[in-house]
Amino acid sequence: LNRRLAPFGTTIFAEMSALATATGAINLGQGFPDTDGPVEIREAAVRALREGRGNQYPPGPGVPELRTAITEHQRRRYGLSYDPDTEVLVTVGATEAVAASLLALVEPGDEVIALEPYYDSYAACVAMAGGTRVPVTLRPDPAGGRFVLDLDELRAAVTDRTRLILLNTPHNPTGTVLTRDELAAVAALAVERDLLVVTDEVYEHLVFDDAEHVPIASFPGMRERTVTISSAGKTFSFTGWKVGWLTASPELTAAVRTAKQYLTFVASGPFQYAVAEALRLPDAFFASLRADLAAKRDILTEGLTAAGFRVYRPRGTYFVTADAAPLGAQDGVAFCRSLPERCGVVAIPNAVFYDHPETGRTLVRLAFCKGEAVLREAAERLARL
Ligand code: PMP
Ligand code: GLN
Repeated sequence: LNRRLAPFGTTIFAEMSALATATGAINLGQGFPDTDGPVEIREAAVRALREGRGNQYPPGPGVPELRTAITEHQRRRYGLSYDPDTEVLVTVGATEAVAASLLALVEPGDEVIALEPYYDSYAACVAMAGGTRVPVTLRPDPAGGRFVLDLDELRAAVTDRTRLILLNTPHNPTGTVLTRDELAAVAALAVERDLLVVTDEVYEHLVFDDAEHVPIASFPGMRERTVTISSAGKTFSFTGWKVGWLTASPELTAAVRTAKQYLTFVASGPFQYAVAEALRLPDAFFASLRADLAAKRDILTEGLTAAGFRVYRPRGTYFVTADAAPLGAQDGVAFCRSLPERCGVVAIPNAVFYDHPETGRTLVRLAFCKGEAVLREAAERLARL
């Protein structure tokens, strides 16, 4: 293994899912739903396979039907206009969109600012691109129980070497949804310091209560400097299909496409046709997804609170971050490794998402994209701790 990748072993998700399989514990670690997405969308994939649409290499940027559906979605939801021919790229999940963006846009030695705790692939991809990651830590606001971005800290993190800000909202693993004011400040900073923004918005539809997802590309001066990434995995409950995409200016799209060509060349064909149909589902689909997940969040957060955790109630994503310190935990990694044996539940230690693990030492993340009975059973088991 080369020096750039040496610090990155097996992902925590693989380790913890293997632990769940080995112990038969309830897996609230890796984020994937326990029921598949809409049957009519599965049928659309079967139809595409049967009718021979996408069984051979699809076009590099993605099939036209999907690129058009992505632009319609961005216009309908956010009032953002993109040209399906020059400003959209279909990728192998959001994971490839992040990787290709960083490989295409970062020069060796460039600094990349990322919100810490960060999704694990960000650090590995910045390293593969030869960049240096500069974490800006989200810290719990004692009053609201929400993880907040310290804008002064963000501003202070920008140097002459900063190339881009890698944003993620709604945020995995904290469940924070950046507010309009926070995003406006990030946008103003990006414009002032002439930075690119790569924004991972895979949880764009998973927002609760009065939280609102606002794409940073919609702020003044941002459209031309932002790569916006999303995926079908979370919104439509098809994490195994690995269909993701990005929208950006023609120049940025062409740059990322260059990297993507030599990573995977194209994304899998038949699923792209099915995702095009999924993006056109009526608003009621998205509303019921949110209502369903908000109810599940409540079951898990109430269970965790009753079990003695300090809970940070998420307003987005399908993860809840909770502090195990009140239960006597001193180290979240050790806590999560022992949890299946102690009570038959698997969680993810947030410490692995930090460069400064002391900040998240006793925090753990649990997924609530599971059946209500599964969540109630997990809550009962956690109460035995
Ligand atoms: N970004 C974030 C923040 C995620 O949580 C995930 C996990 N789904 C991904 C990217 C990867 O998305 P995909 O499965 O579409 O590659
Ligand atoms: N995005 C999901 C999570 O955060 C799964 C990621 C993965 O398995 N690589 O749990």
